[in-house]
Amino acid sequence: MDKEILYENLNKSNLEFIEEYKKEFSNILDSGWFILGSNVNKFEEEFSSYCNSRYCVGLASGLDALSIALQNFSFDHGGEVIVPSNTYIATILSIINNGLKPVLVEPDIHTYNIDPIRIEEKITSKTKAIMVVHLYGKCCEMDRIMEIARAKKLIVIEDCAQAHGASFEGRTAGTFGDFGAYSFYPTKNLGALGDAGALITNSEENYLQTKILRNYGSRVKYHNELIGVNSRLDEIQAAFLRVKLRNIEKITLHKRSLAKIYFENLSDFYIKPVQDDRFYDVFHIYNVRTHLRDKLKAFLLENKIHTEMHYPIPPNEQQAMKGILDNQMTPLSKEIHGTTLSLPISYGNTAEEIYRVCEIMNKFASGN
Ligand SMILES: *Cc1c(COP(=O)(O)O)cnc(C)c1O
Repeated sequence: MDKEILYENLNKSNLEFIEEYKKEFSNILDSGWFILGSNVNKFEEEFSSYCNSRYCVGLASGLDALSIALQNFSFDHGGEVIVPSNTYIATILSIINNGLKPVLVEPDIHTYNIDPIRIEEKITSKTKAIMVVHLYGKCCEMDRIMEIARAKKLIVIEDCAQAHGASFEGRTAGTFGDFGAYSFYPTKNLGALGDAGALITNSEENYLQTKILRNYGSRVKYHNELIGVNSRLDEIQAAFLRVKLRNIEKITLHKRSLAKIYFENLSDFYIKPVQDDRFYDVFHIYNVRTHLRDKLKAFLLENKIHTEMHYPIPPNEQQAMKGILDNQMTPLSKEIHGTTLSLPISYGNTAEEIYRVCEIMNKFASGN
């Protein structure tokens, strides 16, 4: 009897860290200090060092990181922000929540990331910023994007929620633009045991202002200089994240080794991710595409293999976006959403499991 191959099993992925988590939790309980303390400070130092960035500010979630990045610039309402059409809804929400207008740009069908060629044609006199997303753990083509941004004097914010440790031409995700926004949602490559996020930046001004914004717009207690929010990373999550961060290299290498098995063993019946030496990919997601996606997903499930879709419905077809995005046509994005399937590639998955996924997928390929 073959065992179930889960897409993600957080008990399994966290198993080897449990003793350390317990020790950290107990230390914090004893300390009686829960918000903005030594663990947050140390995590910020350690994470910015890991990213080769000058500064990091711990926040409550990835969505908050994106929203607060935009909030730093106080753009006039109605300003436009360029954003890929095939992203998670959070990227779009951060723009809307700042009173700005998301302008969708289609991805490159090979990399699934925003297509630099298509950015320029969407820039108007109202464009304020480009928000790129390093989707699935692969960086965008940041050289070309930064060139456009510099020429047009646009702010660049990078959504790095799926790209911890990913790089392009040796430079880490989040260090090209004005801000890199990270999520540490439990299933991300660097996952907490609850919600958490962070912004990284090389600008001292951005750094200092973000620290004020996350804490009610206050630098000195009860003195509020800015309209801020409450988006503080808490000590417990910061301590858990420090444990994980010490192991991120191992987690990334494990995921890359599973991706290698897919690359080497999966039938060419499937469209696999592109490989290019300029990119160091961290495979938050390993997707394939096929027009038989739904049939394949069902076949895999019959064989006890669980998969996901990132994402089944594009942002501009979501009910919440009626009247906001529904006049923006995105055929390429629609094609990706209709054909993509995400295969198991968790830290908790074993090589044997991935060989089995390949075997069952190749069986499906030869029968179709
Ligand atoms: C997970 C994710 C987010 C949001 O992060 P949260 O921590 O859940 O708020 C934003 N963008 C992308 C691309 C994501 O995958």
